[in-house]
Amino acid sequence: MGHSYGWEAEAAAQQARCTLAEAIHATPEEIVFTSGATEANNLAIKGVAEAYLNRGRHLITVQTEHSAVLEPCRYLQSLGFEVTYLPVRSDGVLDLAELKQALRPDTILVSDMAANIEIGVLDPLAEICAFCRSRQVLFDTDAAHAIGKIPLDVEAMNVDLMSMTAHKVYGPKGVGALYVRRRRPRVQLAPQLHGGGQERNLRSGTLCIPQIVGLAKAVELALSEQESAQQRLTNLRQRLWQQLSCLEGIQLNGHPTQRLPGCLNVSIQGVDGSALLLGLQPVVAISSGSACTSAKPSPSHVLTALGRSLELTYASIRFGIGRFNTVAEIDQVAQQVITTVQSLRQTPSANHIQPLSHSSKL
Ligand SMILES: *Cc1c(COP(=O)(O)O)cnc(C)c1O
Repeated sequence: MGHSYGWEAEAAAQQARCTLAEAIHATPEEIVFTSGATEANNLAIKGVAEAYLNRGRHLITVQTEHSAVLEPCRYLQSLGFEVTYLPVRSDGVLDLAELKQALRPDTILVSDMAANIEIGVLDPLAEICAFCRSRQVLFDTDAAHAIGKIPLDVEAMNVDLMSMTAHKVYGPKGVGALYVRRRRPRVQLAPQLHGGGQERNLRSGTLCIPQIVGLAKAVELALSEQESAQQRLTNLRQRLWQQLSCLEGIQLNGHPTQRLPGCLNVSIQGVDGSALLLGLQPVVAISSGSACTSAKPSPSHVLTALGRSLELTYASIRFGIGRFNTVAEIDQVAQQVITTVQSLRQTPSANHIQPLSHSSKL
């Protein structure tokens, strides 16, 4: 930094780094700022693959991961790496036995997300990490949808790499971070952006200070209310599910209790999720199909991995209950869903289940 304005920016970034580190029980030196979770996941996965080339070329991840993990893995396959995509149980939870079976002497990384973005399922991460540590295999987790919502402690859990993003906790878009463990063990990472050597040479490029300050503030706010929010959102989610469960042919997607407080995903037999969406006023965040990919309707690879039929994947709808939602809104949305489903069932022409021609992404 050449001038005093630079020092001020540097101090702001350092403070944000400390806030983020504290949030996950890391040290500030272990935080690398990125443009979001997509970049963080890419840096973690490709960076480890490249740095540990000589130790092995096998990686393990899970079929229900976000595309920001699946696509870097597919890219690595095109370079000659081998990747195992583990299946999940019908409740969406990863079975540790599957991982134990898939681990090989040349496995260099296991990547399993902290909270599933589509169905909200939480894997037994501490158990999974402890196993990886015992085999001296690095463990990476995509915590984009978990940070600020559930407690995360990289020390207690033995996490080696963790991707984060601001915009899933009411922060600005286009900023995130990667936690990279520096002690016991020190994770080696090959940089994916080369240039001026910022971020301890792991991610070159001038830092976007306003975004970074926004990221830290968003995480700080979320943490300050995390405990009360967990209880409140769990109550709201259960209230919504209780009201919806009176619908014939409805089923919950994902484990009933091992899940994020504010995420509910259901399939309603014979009802097209997109048609249902059209009948709802958005008082809570609602989506159909696989959430954050594209406008093109495609069957959710997550629900497919749970063993749901193609019809049921199109008959799915996901509710995101957040900081500002009230009991009255939950009751309102439940009522809307119930009446819309009833009217769709009475007028079959408005309820076109998607044709079977779409190709699955997995
Ligand atoms: C949103 C999300 C991403 C992508 O994050 P960006 O910051 O938009 O790049 C990756 N993984 C998960 C689990 C997400 O929820």
